[in-house]
Amino acid sequence: MPVAIQPAGNEVGRKHYLDTVENLVSLEHYREFLGHDAEDLFAISDQGKLALWGVTPGTNGVNISKYQKLEPGDTVLFTRKGYVYSSGTITHLFHNKNFALALWNQDNKGQTWEYMYALDAIQSHEIPYQILRDAIGSDEGDNFMGFRVLDGDKSDAVLEILNRKNTSYPRVTERGPQDPPRIGERFKNRHAIWKAYGGQKYQGAAVFPGENFLNIFSDADGPYPDFINDETGVIEYRGQGLVGKQVLTRGNKLLEDARLARSPVRFWYKPTKGQWTFNNWVVVTDRTTVTESDTKDNKTSRFIWFLVPVESENSAEWNTDILSAPILDLPIDEPELTSNYEMLLENYSKLSRKFKEEAVGTITSSKPLRRYKRSREARDLVIARSKFKCEYTKCTGMPPDVDSQGKPILQVDHIKPLSEGGSDSPNNMIAICPNCHVAKTIGKNKTKIAKEFIQIVSEKELAMTKK
Ligand SMILES: [Zn+2]
Repeated sequence: MPVAIQPAGNEVGRKHYLDTVENLVSLEHYREFLGHDAEDLFAISDQGKLALWGVTPGTNGVNISKYQKLEPGDTVLFTRKGYVYSSGTITHLFHNKNFALALWNQDNKGQTWEYMYALDAIQSHEIPYQILRDAIGSDEGDNFMGFRVLDGDKSDAVLEILNRKNTSYPRVTERGPQDPPRIGERFKNRHAIWKAYGGQKYQGAAVFPGENFLNIFSDADGPYPDFINDETGVIEYRGQGLVGKQVLTRGNKLLEDARLARSPVRFWYKPTKGQWTFNNWVVVTDRTTVTESDTKDNKTSRFIWFLVPVESENSAEWNTDILSAPILDLPIDEPELTSNYEMLLENYSKLSRKFKEEAVGTITSSKPLRRYKRSREARDLVIARSKFKCEYTKCTGMPPDVDSQGKPILQVDHIKPLSEGGSDSPNNMIAICPNCHVAKTIGKNKTKIAKEFIQIVSEKELAMTKK
């Protein structure tokens, strides 16, 4: 059952909607224009009154074939100013130019809305365009200009939305062409963002002309996907530069400036095969360096930037943790703990103890904002301890696949969650495969599993101390 989308947002559309849908048309009043449609129309009318709409032929008759796909029983959506504001069911379709001229006159191209239909079961809605776009898979720029008839799958998705009971959506106003992007707003690709705002089209860090905000782009399909911590939302963002040692110039300089100024930064994210979304505002709180292979397989030094989510661009709304923390005075080349797993393993006991002593709940004693860097280092240490195998002794099997960097798929879990006061140190952390992670998070035996995890980790730590 096709669904038609019928824009009625401009002045003419709004007037027509008021004149012939909201206020029903009295057929008697137009009897002389009805011609051979008179009998049918009176038959379906409610005591001679009907809601009517029409479509112009369009340039080169573009609308006619679309109109011809419609049948009685199909649904029409009326859109304006960012919303689907009503829907109706088609009860009858007919072509009547004289009647259309009498009702609506003609448009500025000399056409009239002669491909007509009668409507019934008209309902009000307040469905934002984004919901409609999501349902039919159209991109951000789609503002539903022009008459369109959706194909089967898309129609089904739209009907599902209309059938939702008692759903209210947050108020939105459509973004004007000059307005900044909104949180959650999606763009098909970087080109679409560039078209909307200009500026840099390819770099991971860019400032739009006329603004001071930095925009950070993180692509899940990128050569080095960024780590997003599920528990804290903190993003470990790889610095700019694919080949060779990264230095504090260009994109990295922009990130460093944002860190030193503690200015709000837009974080854009593109999931695998998805669209670019302005996810949230972040603050650059810290950085560290790691050694890893570049695209030419040379060991090189890279920045990791720690981006902490904040409510908005307005610093008055930020968490006091962030506001009260000192802005760190970091050397250009800060020595990293190490990301060499063999070395980590050799020094495991010493390092684990250090982490344990430093960690008080989720906050390290002296420098609160370094906790994100610490957290990463603790995670690396746990991965080293796991030797890239799920640490759960009852694991029934790791996924055979590796991640995009060729590493086994392991997730480092806080056995007692940070949110419950768990310590951010390796003795409270375990590297497990996604299967075991799910079991521990939502499984029936999750409490029992957590106890087993504590046991496993303490036995491992003990064995490593003895060695
Ligand atoms: Zn496992």
